[in-house]
Parts: sequence; C-alpha cells; structure tokens
Amino acid sequence: LLYHRIAEVENDVWRLCVRPHHFREHLEVLRRHRTVRLDRLKPDLWWSGRGLTCAITFDDGYADNLHEAQRALKSFGIPATFFIATGYVGGAREFWWDELERLVYNSPVPASQEGRKVKYLELYERLQPLTDEVRSQLLSGIRPSSQERTPRPSHRTLHEQELAELASDDLFEIGAHTVTHPLLAAQPAEDQFSEVQESKAWLERRLERPVTSFSYPYGGTGHYNAATVHAVRAAGFARACTTTPRDFSSGASPWEIGRLNVPDVCGEEFERLLFA
Ligand SMILES: [Zn+2]
Repeated sequence: LLYHRIAEVENDVWRLCVRPHHFREHLEVLRRHRTVRLDRLKPDLWWSGRGLTCAITFDDGYADNLHEAQRALKSFGIPATFFIATGYVGGAREFWWDELERLVYNSPVPASQEGRKVKYLELYERLQPLTDEVRSQLLSGIRPSSQERTPRPSHRTLHEQELAELASDDLFEIGAHTVTHPLLAAQPAEDQFSEVQESKAWLERRLERPVTSFSYPYGGTGHYNAATVHAVRAAGFARACTTTPRDFSSGASPWEIGRLNVPDVCGEEFERLLFA
C-alpha cells in the first residue's frame, strides 16, 4: 500500500493526503488482515488461507509521517516502511511540487482556480525532468520578493531528530527515495547511480543500520528505466517499489514491486479497494 501524507491541507493538487480519521479507519480494516514490514514480506505469503497480507509504505518524508502516521500505526501495532528523499530532510524547504503550488496559487494571475491548475500542471511538466539545481533556480526566479521561503508548517519535511524518532521502533523500516527526488529516467546513468547510492549511504550513516529498500520517485513505468534498476541493484538494495498497482505474488520481480496508491476514503471504501 502506498501513502504519502496523513494530513488535511487546503489545496491537495496530487491527492497525497489521507485525512487522519480515514487513516484510522484503514488501520481498523488492516487489523483484521495480516500486515508485515515490506522487508519481511515474502512473495508467496501475500495471499494465504488466512487472508490478505499487506505492507504499508509512505513516500517522501513529510513531517506528518511521524506526527500522524507513526503514532496511529504504533497504537495499532501495525508496521510500515518510510521512504525518505534525504536531500529534503531538515525542513529547510518544501518539496519542489509544493513550492510550485504555493507560488502559482498565491499569484494574482491567473485569477480563476481552473486557470491556476492549468498553469500549475504546465509548469510541473516542465520542471519535473530538470535537475534539482536548475529547478531551484527557476523557482527562485519566479518567486515574488514578498513571499517567504520558509516552509509552511503544513507542508514541512522531517527534521533529522524526527527521522531518528521515526526509525527508533522496530515496527518501522526506513527506506531510500533518492537525494533530490529527480525524475530518474531523465538523468544520465551516472547521476542516477549517485542519487540512489548517496541516499542509501546518508541514511545508513545517520541511522547506523543497513537500508535495503528503495522506492522510485514518481514510480510510474516512464519514471525509471533499465539504468535505474541497474543502479538500485549495484548500490546494494534488496528490493524496489514502483507506483504501479500489481500484486506481490511469487515470480514478481523484487525490483518492481507494485503498490496500491491509497486514496482519502472511508474504511468501507478502503476495504472494497483492497479486494478489487
Ligand atoms: Zn516521492
């Protein structure tokens, strides 16, 4: 299962948020099934006579992963894996897609919500394949001097101390999600490798444990390529997650584990999606 945020924000363009009360309803449903940490999930275990086995994952490293998600998971005793884009740890800036959302939606033109959405998606498409450095320069170029750069509390990322707290319980696994969250398929092979390898090394240094799971940024079939899979294997990961919905049955590649992107729905609807 793939989640990003347990939160409620005003303008959730990518529908990354599941509201806290809905998340608790999902956990109520999952309590009736088997849940395991992703790194302990065996392909032939996912469906057995005892019902469904699920592994919960979170991508990116928003602060609410600790303050909302981990606390709820802990109270239910349900494990999860958190994939962290390490260059964003520290809370100094928002993820680039959030920074862009703030800029476009705070701008007086276009005036209509619909116009802003079109503008946002157009700029998103153009910025997504760029390197972090170029993207940051472009975002700085269009930011009015009146607008703060400090992240909004509702959109901030984990601090190092919070990451350590997230990792402190054996219920939770920390995985890598690159350094700068690039569109890997658009980068040269050597840059892909350093993004993949450096995020692993950074986490291992800080957490003093092996990091064996990886998740591809954006995660769709066009977002990574053969060079990416090669980089992930060469860096020493044991598995990697996509965002393609696909069961983890025997014979499935550990380098392209499928995930169901969980929407902000009630428990009943969530259970229906699990068995769809
Ligand atoms: Zn991501």
